[in-house]
Amino acid sequence: MKFRKYDQAQTKFVNLNYRKMLGEDSDAVLINGMIEVLDLSGIEDRYDEVGNPAYHPKAMMKIIIYGYYEGFFGGRPLSRRYEKDLGLRYLSNDDFPDHRTINLFRVNFKDEIAEVFAQVLMLCKELEMIGFENLSIDGQKIKANANVFQNKNLKGIRKEKEKIEKLLKKLLESELDFQQEEEKKIKKNKLQRRMKKLEQAAQLLIEAGAEGDDKLRYNLTDPDSRIMKDKRGVLNPDYNAQNTVDDKFQVLTAVNVINTPSDNEQLFPMKEKSEENTGSPHKNTLADCGYSDKETFTQMENDPTTEYYVPDRTMYTSKNDKYSKWNFKYEDEQDVYFCPQGNKLIFIRTSKDKDGLEYRLYRTEDCEHCDVKNKCRKKSKNKGKIRNRTICVYPQDEAIKRMRKKLDSKDGKKIYQVRMSTVEPLHGDMQKNRGFIQFVLRGLEKVNSEYNLLAIAHNVRKIILHRADALKKYLANAAKVA
Ligand code: SF4
Repeated sequence: MKFRKYDQAQTKFVNLNYRKMLGEDSDAVLINGMIEVLDLSGIEDRYDEVGNPAYHPKAMMKIIIYGYYEGFFGGRPLSRRYEKDLGLRYLSNDDFPDHRTINLFRVNFKDEIAEVFAQVLMLCKELEMIGFENLSIDGQKIKANANVFQNKNLKGIRKEKEKIEKLLKKLLESELDFQQEEEKKIKKNKLQRRMKKLEQAAQLLIEAGAEGDDKLRYNLTDPDSRIMKDKRGVLNPDYNAQNTVDDKFQVLTAVNVINTPSDNEQLFPMKEKSEENTGSPHKNTLADCGYSDKETFTQMENDPTTEYYVPDRTMYTSKNDKYSKWNFKYEDEQDVYFCPQGNKLIFIRTSKDKDGLEYRLYRTEDCEHCDVKNKCRKKSKNKGKIRNRTICVYPQDEAIKRMRKKLDSKDGKKIYQVRMSTVEPLHGDMQKNRGFIQFVLRGLEKVNSEYNLLAIAHNVRKIILHRADALKKYLANAAKVA
């Protein structure tokens, strides 16, 4: 015989052992081990004894986390992947749930998924992956599963309602044959559903005070999303995903998705959430200027649990701007400031800004004859008939100055640099490498659950990448104890 037997129609009996085929170092086997040692009784207890037996929560959790780990975020892509992916076949034990079951699990166990995040974080702590040295806080804008053109203000909603009313009236008045009647029924139902959605949106907008305010908008696809500007300046219906990251192995210690574009007011809640999850505060807490407002600085000084490194919004721009108020010299004996031209700014009065914060107003007596007035006076808020330069001095400015000094010191610079290499790569990894550029689910609660899954997958990846051997030892010990 010239050739070996080659018959593709020949069927085979094969003894399959997926674990053996994958190997003990494979991602799927390690993920399997990690989920096995977690306590999922919170999920298990919510199932009833009656009815058809459900998929085991451990199997569901393994499949979903493996999906987020591999970059398959929806139930459908995961189901399509199943046939080809040995890891999914192993984790599901060849009993794979359909996409609806996967999606329902993510939605039904929101709180329990957050609890799983905390347990995986504890595993990171057990494997000595949290250094408690530097904690970086930052947010990233992630697209909502919503159509930007479905973002409407009250005027737009009323206009569309009128249009639908006319269409419905025309439809009801039309005389049609039997077959057309069926089509009419489908069309009518569709229009009525849209009308109901518009009415709900109009009601919510009125309650939010949108009457006469065209800027207030409501997204009809995902009402919880908000129009936000991303890093490239593109406006989209987005969510703002907040993260705190430890710098030792870039382990995520806390996450929270909010629907306000600003990071302001997130510094202390996120720092506390991280502390709650990990059980200890970090030595240093780092965040960019988006997290600071005037009041934050005094609060930061009064928090003894950590050392903050957070610049104010004008710290870097004012450095090279000699006409910035920060570069005016103060003379405390006379209580006056001196501008770069040596002109005096004298105290005028105490006042309050739009946020209710008190400040002291200082003003020059003559800027009209100054050679650099066009460079300097544009900084002045005084656009009235008095064209002399004014500056507002807040009691919180002293705390801001101390923070600037700290950040400008050799050690301060070194510590603050850690932020760039800790939390910024996390955003790149999630969005560019893993492809998570849009939420699959809709609504603030559901996207939070989804982001928790993404965060679990991130920490799982860090464990596999940096502590696979320690994990295997830990799992072996856990198996002995059990
Ligand atoms: S414009 Fe007024 S405050 Fe500014 S440098 Fe000239 S004199 Fe000084």
